[in-house]
Amino acid sequence: VQSLELINEVILKMVTIIMNLAPYGVFALLTKAMAELGLDLIWSLLGYVAVLIGSLAFHFFITMMIVLKLFSGLSIKTFLAKMREVQIFAFSTSSSNATIPITLRTVTKRMGVNNSVASFTVPFGATINMDGTAIMQGTATIFIANIYGIDLGVTEYLTVILMSVLASVGTAGVPGVGLIMLSMVFAQVGLPIEGIGLILGVDRILDMLRTAVNVGGDAAVTAIVAKSEEKMDVAIYNDPAAGTKDVFDGHIDEDNEREFSQVFSDGIMGSEYDDIDRRR
Ligand code: ASP
Repeated sequence: VQSLELINEVILKMVTIIMNLAPYGVFALLTKAMAELGLDLIWSLLGYVAVLIGSLAFHFFITMMIVLKLFSGLSIKTFLAKMREVQIFAFSTSSSNATIPITLRTVTKRMGVNNSVASFTVPFGATINMDGTAIMQGTATIFIANIYGIDLGVTEYLTVILMSVLASVGTAGVPGVGLIMLSMVFAQVGLPIEGIGLILGVDRILDMLRTAVNVGGDAAVTAIVAKSEEKMDVAIYNDPAAGTKDVFDGHIDEDNEREFSQVFSDGIMGSEYDDIDRRR
C-alpha cells in the first residue's frame, strides 16, 4: 500500500510538472504554427471557436429541444427555464460530474421526475452522454486536418463521427478530459497529436460551454425517459415555482450568523491562531 501511495505521489508530481510546463509548450507550438501559417492561424482559430459555439447552441436549442418535444411533448420553455441553474453551475465548474447533485435536484424537485428514473439516468448520463464533447471532437478534428492540409474523404468523415461518439463516451465528466480523448480520434484519422496543442489555448471557455450542453442532454433524456415510463409528475413540471422553496437562499438564521461572524472576526484578528501557537 505504501509503495502504491508513493507511485501515486510521483504521478501527481509528474502531472503538476507537465501542467506547469503546458503554457510554455502551447506558446512554442503556436509560435511555430504562426511562423509557418502567419496570422491566418488566429483567424482560423477564431473561426473554429465561432463554428463550435454555433454548433453547440444549435444542438442544444434546436436539435435537443425538437427531440424533447417530439418524444415527450413537454414544454420547451419550461425546460429551458428550469435548466438555467444547472447550466450555470456546469458552465462555471466545467464538470458534468460535479453538477450531478444539481441536475438530480432539478429533475426530481423541479421537473417532477421520479427518483427511480433520475438516480439512474443522471449519473449514467453525466458519465457517458457527452453531446457537447462529441461535437467539439468532431469540429476540432476537421479544423486540425484543414490546418495541416490533410484531405479527409467520406470514409474519414464517417470515422471521425464514430470515433468522436466513442471518445466522448470514454470522456470523464471532469474539466479538460475531452481534449485528452481527442488524441484517440486523431490517432484513428492519422492526424498529428501535437495539433491538439493549437486548440489548447482556447479550450478553457469551450470546455465550459460544452459541459453546459452535456448536462442539458442528460436532463433532456431523463425527462423523455421519465415521461415515456410514466414516472413523471407533469403538474410539478408545469409549475414554475416547483422545487424553488427548498433552495438555499444564502441566508443563515440570525443566531448562526452572529456566531459565524464572531468566529470569522476572531480568525481574522488571529486570536485563534495565537492560541494555537501559544499552546504549541
Ligand atoms: N468537461 C466536460 C464535462 O465534464 C468533459 C470534457 O469535454 O472535457 O462534461
